[in-house]
Amino acid sequence: MRVYFKTFGCRTNLFDTQVMMSSLKDFTIAQKEEDADIVVVNSCTVTNGADGSVRNYINKITKSGKKIYLTGCGAFTKGEQLFGQKKVVGVFGHSEKTKVNELLKKENFFELGDLKSIDKTIVGEFVGKSRAFIKIQEGCDFRCSYCIIPYVRGDARSQDEELILEQVRRLAANGFGEFILTGTNVGSYGKDRGTSLAKLLRRLGLIRGVRRIRIGSIEPVQIDEEFLELLDAPWMARHLHIALQHTSPKMLAIMNRRNEVHKDLELFEKIAARGYALGSDFIVGHPGETQELFEEAVENIQKFPLTHIHLFTYSKRDGTPSASMKPEVPGNVAKERYKVIQKIVQEKNEAFRAKKRPLQVLVESQKDGHYFGHDQFFNPVFIQSDLDLKGNWVEIAEYEVKKEGNFAIF
Ligand code: SF4
Repeated sequence: MRVYFKTFGCRTNLFDTQVMMSSLKDFTIAQKEEDADIVVVNSCTVTNGADGSVRNYINKITKSGKKIYLTGCGAFTKGEQLFGQKKVVGVFGHSEKTKVNELLKKENFFELGDLKSIDKTIVGEFVGKSRAFIKIQEGCDFRCSYCIIPYVRGDARSQDEELILEQVRRLAANGFGEFILTGTNVGSYGKDRGTSLAKLLRRLGLIRGVRRIRIGSIEPVQIDEEFLELLDAPWMARHLHIALQHTSPKMLAIMNRRNEVHKDLELFEKIAARGYALGSDFIVGHPGETQELFEEAVENIQKFPLTHIHLFTYSKRDGTPSASMKPEVPGNVAKERYKVIQKIVQEKNEAFRAKKRPLQVLVESQKDGHYFGHDQFFNPVFIQSDLDLKGNWVEIAEYEVKKEGNFAIF
C-alpha cells in the first residue's frame, strides 16, 4: 500500500509529517497523490479559511476512492464532524503520530490522544532539502486573543536537550550545515526543564558541521541578556524573526499580547546595531483596529529597523476571543492596510541590502537558470553559475540589489 502525506500549515506540521514518514514501516511513501492508496491529511486549523482548505481538499479526494486519515491541528476542531460524515476513515491527534504504521492498518477510529506529550523521534534525513528543521518544543502558554493554537497544541513543553543534540549531530554528520529551530513558541524553550533557548543554542553551536542556526520565531519578551550574549556567535544567522504582531499599544492590549511597543523598539535597535536583519509578524485588520490606531501603528513601524515582514490580514477563527470582538474591519480596508505596511518594510529591506556586505549563501535549489538560496540575513539570492552549486555554501562579494532579491554571478 502506498501512502501520500498532504501537509497543510506551518513548519511544525512539516516536521510532524517527517516524523510520520520515518515511523512508517509496512507502507511505501508515494511522492504524488495520484499514486497513493491512502492519503494522510496533516491539517491546519489556524483560521476558518485554513479549515475550509482542508475540507475542500478532503472533499476533492473522497471522490477518488482513496482511504483518507486526518491528523494535525484540524483533527481537534473538525475531526469529529469529518469522521461523523464518513469523509475520513480515521482521525488521530499529534501524540499518536508515531503510531502511524499501526493506525493505517485500522479503520473507524477516533484517537485524539493528549496534548501533553512530545514525540521522541529523531529524524535523520530531510529528503531533498539542504537545511534541516528541528522541532525543539511544542505548544504555547501565551493566550493571544486571535489564536487557536494553544487549544489544539496544548501548553508549552520542551523536547529533551540531549535528544535535540543527538538529532543535530546525526544530521550534521549526514552533511546538513544549516539548522532551523522550530516549534509553536520557540522562545519558551527550556522553561519547563530549568534551562533556556540560549543554553541550548550554545551547545548546538559546538557541534561539528553546524554552520548556521536560525530560530523560527521568538517573542520580544523572551529575549534576555543571556540570549543577547550569543548574537556575535559565528554560527548564528544574522537574522531574527521577532513577533511583534502590531505596533499600536492599544491594539497589542486588545490582542492580549505581552510585548510593549516602546520596549520592542529599544530591543530592535539594540539588535540591529549588532549587524542583524530583523523580521516580524504583523496582523492588519484585527477587530478594533480603527483608522486612528492603524495610523499610530504606521507611525511607529516607520521607526523600527525592520527588514522582513510576515504580514497577515486578520482572519476569523471561531472559538477565539477575537472572533466575537467588534468593530470588525472590512476586508477591503484590511487589504489596503496590508499594502501600506508591506511597502514600508519592502523599502527598508532594499535600503538594508543596498549597504552591501559579503554574503554567505547556502544554495538550496536551481530554477529557471538560476541557483537560489538565502544569505545570512535571510534575503533571497539568485546566482548564475556554470558550476554545480546545489547544496554548497558560497561566499558572494559582488551582487546587484533588485526588488525580488540579490543577484550574483559566481
Ligand atoms: S504566542 Fe500567541 S500567536 Fe503565537 S502560538 Fe502562542 S497564542 Fe498563538
